[in-house]
Amino acid sequence: MPEIQLDNKLEFCLCPHYIWFNGKIIFPKLTITGGIIMGWQVTVDVDKCTGDGECVDVCPVEVFELVDGKADPVNMEECLGCESCVEVCETEAITVVEV
Ligand code: SF4
Repeated sequence: MPEIQLDNKLEFCLCPHYIWFNGKIIFPKLTITGGIIMGWQVTVDVDKCTGDGECVDVCPVEVFELVDGKADPVNMEECLGCESCVEVCETEAITVVEV
């Protein structure tokens, strides 16, 4: 399990629908903000993925599994949008976009 460091500058949450993770505002799945249900699309470029498993280790909600030596976002519906996987991926194989 990765070590989670909360941003010490952030002392409270502005909205009960938001949470802080890794120093960022993130939106839990199915959060309703302004009447819109928000989610995250996680994509892995398999040509860039080296299968080092860094994203598997860092993801707090176990979105990734290694399948045939490549990261596969098999539990994408659990994504919190923290982008920790994007940050640890040395080959920039992962993208996370709000949908
Ligand atoms: S952004 Fe990446 S590390 Fe964060 S929850 Fe989603 S898949 Fe996991």
